[in-house]
Amino acid sequence: EFDGDETDPAVAVELDGVTKRYGETAAVDDVGLRVREGEFFTLVGPSGCGKTTTLRLIAGFEEPTSGTVRFAGESMSGVPPEDRDVGVVFQSYALFPHMTVGENVAYGLNFADPPEGMTRDERVAELLELVDLPDAADRDPESLSGGQQQRIAMARALAPGPDVLLLDEPMSALDARLRERLRAQVKRIQSELGITTIYVTHDQEEALAVSDRVAVMNGGTPEQVAPPRTVYREPATRFVAEFVGDNNVFAGSVVDTPAEGAIAVDVDGGDETLRVRIDAGTATSVGDRAVFCVRPEHLRVASAGEAAGDEPAAPAGENALRATVASAEFLGETTRVTLDWGDRELLVRAVDPLDGAVTVGFDPGDAHVIEVESR
Ligand code: ATP
Repeated sequence: EFDGDETDPAVAVELDGVTKRYGETAAVDDVGLRVREGEFFTLVGPSGCGKTTTLRLIAGFEEPTSGTVRFAGESMSGVPPEDRDVGVVFQSYALFPHMTVGENVAYGLNFADPPEGMTRDERVAELLELVDLPDAADRDPESLSGGQQQRIAMARALAPGPDVLLLDEPMSALDARLRERLRAQVKRIQSELGITTIYVTHDQEEALAVSDRVAVMNGGTPEQVAPPRTVYREPATRFVAEFVGDNNVFAGSVVDTPAEGAIAVDVDGGDETLRVRIDAGTATSVGDRAVFCVRPEHLRVASAGEAAGDEPAAPAGENALRATVASAEFLGETTRVTLDWGDRELLVRAVDPLDGAVTVGFDPGDAHVIEVESR
């Protein structure tokens, strides 16, 4: 895991104990984050969690109530946005309608010189090439699709050669198909330039798809900062487990510690006792409260139909949960099925249609323990 500090040359942007209050509300609450040089770093979380405010503090549109924002180790306190070497792209593309596409991109250069040995026109052509719209210079911005306009907005933000690119929900105004195409383009442009990029989105799937690391925010604070795979496989908190992807989160009482690295839990609202793997070295005893999660794709349907009511038919060593189908959503490749199990629901993925009584199984090793609290 990345663990530089302000003296580490690889740290491009650092937030050190940053808080932003609006009256009584702390929109951003004592945030510490380090974004490394060249990284694609994403702030993701539900509406109101403080993503946009965090980005505005980095851009310099807001000053922190307390704490420090640093760029390459240097405090940005009192430094206005235009002196921060950042390029910003907002949700609304905000291209100037009375200018051509080329003029819009050139506008980004207004206060900067083109790179050595290059004319303004050559720089504009280079940027249009970068965003894969080489022939758009003379076009009217309004003749472009939303995704194309957003690429022009990126070209304009990149024109002066900023150190850091800040993107605030740049795709939220686009339809799903365009969003997927644009996010691949954004990722390509970012890695071609190797530019440090901080991206804000409420869309967890988008965050997983494009980022080197993700900060999952809740109530003004990141609850986990890690690469997408880690956030998905080893959520640090219950909030992260429930926000990122479909999940089954269980809470219950430890009723047995049968072997090193394993516990048996009576889950609140559930029927069968479940066995889950736990990191060896985590001290647990009977009576502790445990919270763990199992992804729907790890809850395998072991048997369906009438027979399911009789004997659990999960492979040896697996947990077997007897449940009944409550509802199903056909998603194309798979179906997302909701099951009633005891007094609660389970989410599973199925290929074939399911109905009636089923037994689902999961390997104790596919559970991820989020926390154990002793009682
Ligand atoms: P969204 O995705 O809805 O934009 P967000 O995660 O970006 O949400 P912020 O816009 O950063 O969240 O807002 C965080 C909190 O701070 C919210 O409760 C919001 O109402 C509050 N807030 C943000 N800006 C201001 C402001 N200028 N004045 C007062 N309160 C504000």
